[in-house]
Amino acid sequence: MNVYDSELIAIRLAATGYQQTPRLEKADLVILNTCTIRAKAEQKAFSFLGRLARLKKKKPGLIVGVGGCVAQQEGAEILKRVPHLDLVFGTQAIDRLPALISKIEAKRCRIVDVSMSENPDLVDAAPADPDHYAVSRFVTIMRGCDNFCTYCVVPYVRGRETSRDPDNIVKEIKFFVDSGVKEVTLLGQNVNSYGKKEGLLSFTELLARVQAIEGLLRIRFTTSHPKDFDQDLIDAFQENDKLCNHIHLPVQSGSNQVLKRMNRKYTKELYLDKVTKLRDTCPEIAITSDMIVGFPGESDADFDETLALMKKVEFDGLFAFMYSDRPNAPATRFKAKISESQKSERLQILLELQETYTKKKNVALIGSIQPIIAEGISKKQSSGSLDQPDQAVQWTGRTSTNKIVNFYHGDISGSSSNIFPGKMVQVKIDKAYAHSLWGKPVEIESTAEGLKGEKSYAA
Ligand code: SF4
Repeated sequence: MNVYDSELIAIRLAATGYQQTPRLEKADLVILNTCTIRAKAEQKAFSFLGRLARLKKKKPGLIVGVGGCVAQQEGAEILKRVPHLDLVFGTQAIDRLPALISKIEAKRCRIVDVSMSENPDLVDAAPADPDHYAVSRFVTIMRGCDNFCTYCVVPYVRGRETSRDPDNIVKEIKFFVDSGVKEVTLLGQNVNSYGKKEGLLSFTELLARVQAIEGLLRIRFTTSHPKDFDQDLIDAFQENDKLCNHIHLPVQSGSNQVLKRMNRKYTKELYLDKVTKLRDTCPEIAITSDMIVGFPGESDADFDETLALMKKVEFDGLFAFMYSDRPNAPATRFKAKISESQKSERLQILLELQETYTKKKNVALIGSIQPIIAEGISKKQSSGSLDQPDQAVQWTGRTSTNKIVNFYHGDISGSSSNIFPGKMVQVKIDKAYAHSLWGKPVEIESTAEGLKGEKSYAA
């Protein structure tokens, strides 16, 4: 969600004449888009802001702004804590950003704007310059959350759940596809409840409308809440041939006692039942998840239940975190906090176990042919390793199951490749690593068009 918001910020600023620069010292304006979901991310944000003091001293005209969840949560307090800060803007103030910046430019004042907007469709993600598009785009279909998990601040900093109008979503995706985008990821905190409050389409009906968009090759979505994940969505994986074979289904813990205290509103039995049904219908599907270790009151037995659940499911990938208190989250007031050393020990055990499954799933793909959308040239060029000729170009893309695949093709002079971003390529997998796969292209679709505006190398 923050990546999407950062894109929106860049689009809004481009419309007012600002251009991005990779060199911080050249910038006239620095915007930090923050996340407060983990304490570490927040600490990093404040440490970066601290470092900007020196730059501002050298360049007094520099405007420094903070957006995102930390801004929403702390508001004017950040101005007190960071004296060289000019602007604090909340999660729903992105559309007002150009006006806020103009005001600061004209009056050299300090501004806080953390009020919530009424209409999420005011946010339009389409940039004026299609050359900025990648092969794959995020599209927000809803904002906020009504679930109030006890460890989470999203409902407080991003507001209550609101779904976007399906016509506007489809219009936006069509615009992207006409500009060369091949894959979209539909974003929401709980996509399964899309449209329910407003009486709009259901999420699977929305998927069917997106599926009908000509020229779009792949659809992904995130995140799905296990309590609302239903048979309709399981069936959609079978019926919707653009829907990728991957689901991110955060479980957070394998202990019912912990899940209850987290207010997750499902049991491990319900979770496992949904995974079984999903795999019965789509045996090839990749399942990834989130896990929190060291939630207040998590006993050794609770942690063992988490490991037992992992052994049953064998996730393709896992984002695991140590619990940390977040301001305003109810769990901050829970007793029986787990020590940092115990959290760290449990995290290590969990990551080591997961590593075996991630590797196992990757190794199982050796010898298979995977359809990949070429996303772009990786920064690294061949040094003649992996039996490839010197100077070969390293391409990257992802399988339908969301695994990164690298492969060599063409050469860096650009004279011998018929692959370009957006091209569908069949890649035979010959090597598996912990977090990526390597392969060789065996077939390149001759008709698929690449990303508009990108250079297409001559065959
Ligand atoms: S579902 Fe729970 S964890 Fe996810 S955003 Fe909502 S409150 Fe936070």
